[in-house]
Amino acid sequence: MEKIKIPYIIGDGTGKDIWNASREVLEEAVIRAYNHEKEIEWVYLLAGQNALEQKGVLLPDETLHTIREIKFAIKGPLTTPVGGGFRSMNVYLRQIFDLYVCLRPIKYIKGLPSPIKNPERVNIIVFRENTEDVYKGIEWAAETEDVRKLIDFLKESMEIDLPYDSGIGIKPISRKGTERFVNWVLNYAITHGRKKITIVHKGNIMKYTEGAFRAWAYEVYERFMKDSAGKEIMVNDIIADNMFMQIILRPEEYDILLCPNLNGDYLSDCCAALVGGLGVAPGANIGDEIAIFEPTHGSAPKYAGKDIVNPLSFIFSACMLFEHIGLKEAKELIEKAVEKTISEGIMTYDLARLSHGIQPVKCSEFGRALIERMG
Ligand code: NAP
Repeated sequence: MEKIKIPYIIGDGTGKDIWNASREVLEEAVIRAYNHEKEIEWVYLLAGQNALEQKGVLLPDETLHTIREIKFAIKGPLTTPVGGGFRSMNVYLRQIFDLYVCLRPIKYIKGLPSPIKNPERVNIIVFRENTEDVYKGIEWAAETEDVRKLIDFLKESMEIDLPYDSGIGIKPISRKGTERFVNWVLNYAITHGRKKITIVHKGNIMKYTEGAFRAWAYEVYERFMKDSAGKEIMVNDIIADNMFMQIILRPEEYDILLCPNLNGDYLSDCCAALVGGLGVAPGANIGDEIAIFEPTHGSAPKYAGKDIVNPLSFIFSACMLFEHIGLKEAKELIEKAVEKTISEGIMTYDLARLSHGIQPVKCSEFGRALIERMG
């Protein structure tokens, strides 16, 4: 029996509910897909509240060391306080491992309830640059000594006059950071037979950050196409606010959405809503060496411990990990079981409330239903 080591972070809030419902589904899929010749060996990693309680830090060195060694991991959501407190460990992981591509596929699965008329036409991938933009975390709180220094500097050196009670943040978007990201996405698009890339920006207002992102993306595209004789892929661009309308009214016209960090964050939640919501939205954070797979959603603390949330976003993220490490058959087994389970009307509260007359099952019950329907 071949053992496949998979490092995992349970996460905060609903992370535990989701992990409890998903673990056996993933184990069974590998065992059944490979006829008992392969088996998952989970490698438990501490992060977030669990780590703080047990080790006194949010992200212990052992966790980072193991991810660096094994080169991939699956993680549940980690809570970040609003308006103060510690910085996001989710963002920190992306930055420390330079996971510059965030890949969030939005695909309709037969039977999923949706708020739009033709959800079967949705097949979009949101690509989000994952290390720059406002997520660099460069900010100064209003009415502090530091912000006063900065405001004085801006006034004296650049004649920019800001009120002293302003908080200030910096939004860096670099040529190099954009170019490597766009190159990665173009390569992905070609190897996966995608047809169109739409650059989503607010370059009319943020001319030298998002406007530059757009310009650099076109430059990379021009160079890429010169070197890729015979390969066809279209590129266009759209201003972000318009994108939110277009994606709801005519999602079938979009294929790959290429976004700076913040746009990609907003837009991937919006796109997830087209096919049932955050409960079914997986994702991957990918760098040149390491990849960490995680749901698009956060820790949904109000539902923590209630065993009601949808584990599918985590299970689908694990499916992406399976594909990444060559366990495609296990992934396909799970996808078929999901389709069968949903088509029988077995679903958690989030999908049940979009359907008519369906009683929701618990998170753990949904996990068991998947195993029962696995071929
Ligand atoms: P959230 O945790 O993503 O939850 C927002 C809403 O999405 C929930 O109220 C729920 O909608 C729905 N939802 C989330 N997970 C679901 C699931 N598994 N099944 C079904 N529905 C689900 O966002 P938030 O409440 O804004 O953030 C909570 C915390 O998570 C914050 O500390 C934030 O920083 C953190 N966060 C972490 C990550 C990450 O770990 N990568 C990502 C985003 C946010 P309804 O209320 O409509 O039922």
